[in-house]
Parts: sequence; structure tokens; C-alpha cells
Amino acid sequence: MTVKIGILALQGAAREHRQPLQHLGVSTVDVLDPRDLDGIDALVLPGGENTTLGKLLEKYRLLEPIADAGRRGLPLFGTCAGMILMAKHVNKSQQPRLGLMDIRVERNAFGRQQHSFEADLPVPALGARPFHAIFICAPYIEEAGDGVTPLLRHEGKILLARQGYFLAAAFHPELTDDARLHDYFLCEVAR
Ligand code: GLN
Repeated sequence: MTVKIGILALQGAAREHRQPLQHLGVSTVDVLDPRDLDGIDALVLPGGENTTLGKLLEKYRLLEPIADAGRRGLPLFGTCAGMILMAKHVNKSQQPRLGLMDIRVERNAFGRQQHSFEADLPVPALGARPFHAIFICAPYIEEAGDGVTPLLRHEGKILLARQGYFLAAAFHPELTDDARLHDYFLCEVAR
């Protein structure tokens, strides 16, 4: 049976996520409607602008269905704004979110100088070779609950974490040609 991965396609980098996933041999479906969630094995939540994304999720009636699917066991992989959506707590924010992961997130957390930057960072879960992480107005995880495993810390900030079948990254793995994090999601997190 083919593995089918949904990609939330309301905003931003859906296309970029398609490439590594298809390269890894799974089929993908763009999620724009609650019916698109039927039959998917996991869902990717790409980056974008979190406030807009939250509003679009409500407008397209996807917020509750995705939150519900997540609570029932649908594996989720959120990158950047997608990570913010997954967080139970977001500093100074009341906006709509899925609220599934036991993390507290600070948005746009790297300040103006570091609006956007790239760094090769060690992620032991992905092997010895560092991962080229691209940050764009990135958030970070300020606090994580006991059930959360940090997979990458940099300068005291958690930038990649897993909680059971949820994976959240502050950076954009889909903008590199390194598919190791998508592979980790498919093989370790979503299996
Ligand atoms: N800064 C954005 C936000 O807080 C996230 C940026 C991104 O997804 N690249 O919504």
C-alpha cells in the first residue's frame, strides 16, 4: 500500500515539501479541504505567516479537523510557522492554533539582525553529518514538557523537537536538498 502524506497547502512552501517526500517514494496530496485529510498517513504543516495561517485554517474549516486528527494519532511535521501552529503555548499570542505539542514557542525570536540566516548544525538523530538549517523569521522553543525530546539545541534554544508522533522544526528543511529530516519523519516519527 502506498504511503500518502498530506501537505497543508493554504500558504507557503507546500511545493518545496513535495520534492523530498516524493524523492523518498511516498505520494503526496495537497490539503485544502477537510476531505483531503481522508486516508492520509501523516500531514506536513509548512511555514508561512502564523497569524494568516491560523485565520486561513479557520476560514477553510481545517483547524478543528486537523487538531482532532492529531489528537487521534495522525503524525504531524510542522516547520517554522507550522511548528508555531502545533504549540500549546505561544508567547504573547491568542491566535488560532492546533495546540497539540507540549511546547512554549517564541515567534520571530532571533531579532532583526538575524531575520534570516543559515547554519550547519549537528542533529545526532540524523547521523554524523550536520544539517544545513535555513531560518527565516524563525521561532524557537523556549520550554518543552517532559514528553518532548529536543533533537537540536543551539545557543540554549531548542530548534527541533519530537513528542511521540509529532515533529517540529524551527527551520526550513524543505529549502535544502537534504531529505534526511523528511526521511526521519517518515521512518521514525510517523511509522
Ligand atoms: N515569522 C513567522 C511567524 O511567526 C514564521 C516564519 C516562517 O514560517 N518562515 O508566523
